Amino acid sequence: MARLDEEHPLDVDGEWFVDTRCIDCDVARQWAPGLIEADEDGLSYVARQPRSEEEQAAMWRAAEACPTRSIGHRSLRRPAEPAFPFELTPGVYAMGHNHRDSFGAHSYLVKHAGANLLVDAPRFLLSLADHVDRLGGIDHVLLSHRDDVADAERWAERYGARVWIHSDDASAAPFASDVVSGTETVDVSSGVTLVPVPGHTRGSVAFHVDERWLFTGDTLHWHQRRRRLDVFAGATWYSWEHLADSMDVLAPLRVEWVFPGHGIWHQVGFDAYSAQMADLGSSMRRIGRSAWSHRPIDPGM
Ligand code: SF4
Repeated sequence: MARLDEEHPLDVDGEWFVDTRCIDCDVARQWAPGLIEADEDGLSYVARQPRSEEEQAAMWRAAEACPTRSIGHRSLRRPAEPAFPFELTPGVYAMGHNHRDSFGAHSYLVKHAGANLLVDAPRFLLSLADHVDRLGGIDHVLLSHRDDVADAERWAERYGARVWIHSDDASAAPFASDVVSGTETVDVSSGVTLVPVPGHTRGSVAFHVDERWLFTGDTLHWHQRRRRLDVFAGATWYSWEHLADSMDVLAPLRVEWVFPGHGIWHQVGFDAYSAQMADLGSSMRRIGRSAWSHRPIDPGM
């Protein structure tokens, strides 16, 4: 519950507020852009109060996604409709309720023919599980890497789901049923493949679904300011060189949407995905990790 006694001093007057327990995970700013912004230390505050029903809904989503429960209101009644699961595109739902243990990573429910998928894990809440029940439950829990396991075990237990992770990150999920080794792509279920993409961590993987959706963990995300797919140079824990090689592995895939753990999901489009990924790996090798985040916004790659 948000702490009014720790309200951020920059919050504008009004119903909604953010407290200073914020950890700068950026999630609230993704759900409520223009309403919640970051101060110079990266702490979120309410820059503008919502003016429409859609903006109110955005604030509710931000509040329910926030891993520190730092976003509160003074007197509103909770809407009848839950903020999450929230359908991003037909068949793919943001789960919200981002977990502090994963530094607020996003997780996704994919309603998939005969075998629903949970990609990484949110907090386990019975109220959220009730809505997952209505969507058909979960057959496979797909873990992108060691950092975003969160409450995966509790979700898997509730549904008797199989749990997938790469062996190089498997110590973070000793309850996993399917531990994959090596660098070869592995079939998870019909239309769903696990693609090893070492770099962010040694055991990072992406999940490619139905030749159109790519769940990337912390390997690849949409960079809003650059308006292109990008990598987190400052959060490459294992190997920049391996991460560049992994971009070459992902480049030939057919992808319309990218759904990351951190950063924002985006409908990139098949052609734009191919064009942007074609030389991402080689650009990373040429520019290098230390200069990557400082390169010009439109360098021609
Ligand atoms: S989601 Fe919460 S912790 Fe993350 S940036 Fe927003 S207010 Fe801060």
